[in-house]
Amino acid sequence: MANEVNASDEKTQQSESTDIMRSTQSVIKEALEKLGYSEEVFELLKEPLRMMTVRIPVRMDDGKVQVFTGYRAQHNDAVGPTKGGVRFHPDVTYDEVQALSLWMSLKAGIVDLPYGGGKGGVVCEPRNMSFRELEGLSRGYVRAISQIVGPSKDIPAPDVFTNSQIMAWMMDEYSLMREFDSPGFITGKPVVLGGSFGRESATAKGVTIVIREAAKKRGLDLKGARVIVQGFGNAGSFLSKFLHDAGAKIVAISDVNGALYDKNGLDIDYLLDRRDSFGSVTNLFENTISNKEMLELDCDILVPAAIQNQITADNAHNIRADIVVEAANGPTTLEATRILTERGILLVPDVLASCGGVTVSYFEWVQNNQGYYWTEEEVSDKLEKMLVKAFDNVYNTSQSRQVNMRLAAYMVGVRKMAEAARFRGWV
Ligand code: NAD
Repeated sequence: MANEVNASDEKTQQSESTDIMRSTQSVIKEALEKLGYSEEVFELLKEPLRMMTVRIPVRMDDGKVQVFTGYRAQHNDAVGPTKGGVRFHPDVTYDEVQALSLWMSLKAGIVDLPYGGGKGGVVCEPRNMSFRELEGLSRGYVRAISQIVGPSKDIPAPDVFTNSQIMAWMMDEYSLMREFDSPGFITGKPVVLGGSFGRESATAKGVTIVIREAAKKRGLDLKGARVIVQGFGNAGSFLSKFLHDAGAKIVAISDVNGALYDKNGLDIDYLLDRRDSFGSVTNLFENTISNKEMLELDCDILVPAAIQNQITADNAHNIRADIVVEAANGPTTLEATRILTERGILLVPDVLASCGGVTVSYFEWVQNNQGYYWTEEEVSDKLEKMLVKAFDNVYNTSQSRQVNMRLAAYMVGVRKMAEAARFRGWV
């Protein structure tokens, strides 16, 4: 019975990933058509140029060898080396890693970074693995993909359930194999190993900048604005803190177990203090509501910062926010995007809103390459400038071309890659 349940979960996961890949491809196609590119360009960009599947043997603490499956996708390297995180998660699939690499290409294009998109993943349950087993898996993954990665080829970074310690092991393994110190091989490292100040909270800082810019466009003052944040992990918790400090009223937050709501604003510092390392806090309270109920509460700004497919055709008509900002990857379906846009809600898409992480990763790589390190303030100033410019570019494209912000972001994101491929003579 347990096996049957697992098999059906796996199927659902696989079909969700396939849907995400298909919908990403459909928006890329539309964006290329709007920009006047030929079908050949879509043929080139619709899938990663390179996709590697690896098998990684790891000796576990019980003495037995377990063999893990991992992937590395390199979407397109016309602009420059590919770049993107590695996730350790039981639900990782081939299609998901492919789709995520396409998104990374778009993000790089939107912020104008000299990269194409990459992504990696290993199918595993890191929450049940010891420190020693995780180290074995991290080093094994780097050995397995070593031929196709490197500081000027493809640069990994942290993603779901991977962190600076895992990046440190991966960097060490790569440096040992190449026989020279290679800090620029990977980003998201601890600061003592060449990590950048501000990397840990970069995604949330980026989302905060984008929310501020979106609020300006709607004439909404962030001071006193009512905000709902779904997810209280790395992205959601830092974001709640930054918005709270900027004077917004965080009226609801949630995690996997449920949601907390207070129309007068929640005590974010207290919740941050009580949350565990997996971003759970609502289990400590009795008066909770469901995530579904929370998403439909009246507010000014709604920020899905947890998982995909949260706003769908089923609930898009009931969303009562003026602005929706996607801090998570893929929280709104294409049908829901259409409904929200028709209802006059400003939707800021994931490929723009969550660019802060890859932007500071880029700063880390630049600092590693030049061997000269910046202060947190310098990192913050540079991030601010790049994201305001990216937001303006996408917003102005959406206004001038009369398209929604998602399509506008894809148009901005795909343009440089398509041009680079054309100049190289690939299409
Ligand atoms: P995380 O694992 O630190 O936190 C996830 C949060 O979501 C937790 O609070 C968890 O309880 C909650 N959650 C999990 N399942 C849920 C469910 N079914 N319903 C409601 N809440 C649920 O993850 P994170 O790093 O904060 O990432 C969150 C989202 O942001 C993901 O989509 C991720 O891809 C995206 N993102 C994160 C970063 C980053 O740098 N952290 C960068 C880009 C995009």
